[in-house]
Amino acid sequence: MININENFLNLQDSYLFSTVNKKVVEFQKNNPNKKIIKLGIGDVTRPIVPSVLEAMHKAVDELGKVETFRGYGPEQGYEFLREKIAEFDYKKRGIEISIDEIFVSDGAKCDCGNIGDILGVNNKVAITDPVYPVYLDTNVMAGRSGKYNQETGMFENIIYMPANSENNFIPELPSEVPDMIYLCFPNNPTGTTLSKQELKKWVDYARANKALILFDSAYEAYISEDNVPHSIYEIEGAKDVAIEFRSFSKTAGFTGVRCAYTIVPKNLKGYTKDGKEILLNPLWNRRHGTKFNGVSYPVQRAAEAVYSEEGQKQIKENINYYMNNAQIIKEGLQETGFTAYGGVNAPYIWLKIPQGLTSWEFFDKLLNEVNVVGTPGVGFGPSGEGYFRLTAFGTKENTIEAINRIKTMK
Ligand code: PLP
Repeated sequence: MININENFLNLQDSYLFSTVNKKVVEFQKNNPNKKIIKLGIGDVTRPIVPSVLEAMHKAVDELGKVETFRGYGPEQGYEFLREKIAEFDYKKRGIEISIDEIFVSDGAKCDCGNIGDILGVNNKVAITDPVYPVYLDTNVMAGRSGKYNQETGMFENIIYMPANSENNFIPELPSEVPDMIYLCFPNNPTGTTLSKQELKKWVDYARANKALILFDSAYEAYISEDNVPHSIYEIEGAKDVAIEFRSFSKTAGFTGVRCAYTIVPKNLKGYTKDGKEILLNPLWNRRHGTKFNGVSYPVQRAAEAVYSEEGQKQIKENINYYMNNAQIIKEGLQETGFTAYGGVNAPYIWLKIPQGLTSWEFFDKLLNEVNVVGTPGVGFGPSGEGYFRLTAFGTKENTIEAINRIKTMK
């Protein structure tokens, strides 16, 4: 008799975006003439920039000739790409990362989930609340949580660290010490950030408690303010306690192309049950090489071209385009009397819902009254109740129209 992984039965039924989608499909079916504007799911809309496309085309052509054909590449990624990552994303910011600390993959989502393979199932996990759901669900699947509690909206055995307007979206260091701490800054969904001083507190805390920080900086390219760290390794000592996830998805429009990377520093250690130190880099190397066969050659050439002079200029134009949308949304909301957060160092705006409505009620109101789709905050965790996420990834025209419509809401 085949047994299943019963941890999956603890997962909550409907994934946030499928519920949103169901509601939108239903509304459109009943109102075929209404034009819906979607500022819900965090997917980009600007096409891949020309210099990156050109590099991808060229690489595809190379595959068609005997002399330049390539089969399996190194699972960790081609050196031409890892060298660029080390130079542009780290060295330029004064951080030394060697190429054997860089693991190229097909997505930060997979990496954030897969990293659990090399970590003990009895580790205590801490997540911020609200949170990018992948950190939580993958730990539920792995058996690091207890059961879901319908009343609190929380899983047992998971440490939830609220981030809300009361603490200025800066989660407090938990009193119960976790082993694995997920941090995502600039944050999805709140669009807020931590200063270097704030992030240093987390690094010091992890060092003092032999904990591991899993730092997701998928949105670092959107940072516009000076004192906001792009990488956790800007903080002294972080290489001893942190793994960092990065992605080309939001940086260069690769959500469909798929390319990302993870940094596992060579000094980073975990521990056996009897306290023996074990380096994590070789463990991740083993896991990556065993379960993954590398990102395709044309995609890695495309990612490499992101770092060219033209590539950098062109992707920055797209980022500025989205951040202009963010400003339109944030200012528009504020003019309408909403309190809104984020949108300065991240393409997300987190608005406070006027008292009396739940975040799903506000979702329905927005959809029904002005035909705009956003994401209910509670879908990201119980502390997201009372908030609502809008993304800056739409077209400028749609963004302006959405805000004009919201201004007419009663
Ligand atoms: N991390 C965060 C915080 C995200 O918001 C997303 C996508 O929305 C991802 C990771 C996924 O990145 P990728 O497309 O590289 O899988």
